[in-house]
Amino acid sequence: MSPVISASAETLPNRDKRIDLDPELRDRAGVPRPRVTFALDPYTSAGLAEALKVNRDIFDAMGATETQFNAPYLSNAIIAGTTRMGHEEKGSVVNAHLRSNEHANLSICGASTHVTAPVNAPSLTITAMAYRLADHLAAPGGMV
Ligand SMILES: Cc1cc2nc3c(=O)[nH]c(=O)nc-3n(C[C@H](O)[C@H](O)[C@H](O)COP(=O)(O)OP(=O)(O)OC[C@H]3O[C@@H](n4cnc5c(N)ncnc54)[C@H](O)[C@@H]3O)c2cc1C
Repeated sequence: MSPVISASAETLPNRDKRIDLDPELRDRAGVPRPRVTFALDPYTSAGLAEALKVNRDIFDAMGATETQFNAPYLSNAIIAGTTRMGHEEKGSVVNAHLRSNEHANLSICGASTHVTAPVNAPSLTITAMAYRLADHLAAPGGMV
């Protein structure tokens, strides 16, 4: 079997990368479709270029005679960022305690509050945030 090395990068949080409601496109029920605005930032692109260089060096050190490299591509199962957390109400949906900016009795816990998506495995972070939210709600004054 041929050895395979893969490298992945987490992109930087950036307000310009966003998911919002498409102002024109609707599904069959008339509900606005999600609109995804995304571009690789220079920092992430540079990281991937560096990873490619390291991978080449590893194959050279192994004495590989035939190598093949893919161009960077977007592939991720993590759906995140639709109810983004932030210190300022403008540009965010929930605050640091996961409370909705618009509805004081609504808390949101999940990957949707993350401002950027990791390459994989956000579930432990989501679980930690759920514990933190539960402690906050159970504390005096935590519930509205
Ligand atoms: C193929 C795949 C592989 C993955 N592998 C990993 C992995 O190895 N490790 C890891 O950590 N993460 C992995 N993830 C990511 C992880 O599964 C998600 O990030 C995580 O489940 C997100 O949790 P959540 O609670 O935010 O959302 P979800 O788990 O999507 O929960 C949202 C819930 O809300 C419900 N819901 C939605 N709309 C409504 C509504 N209007 N009314 C009532 N209920 C509603 C949905 O039915 C769902 O049960 C993977 C994801 C995919 C798709």
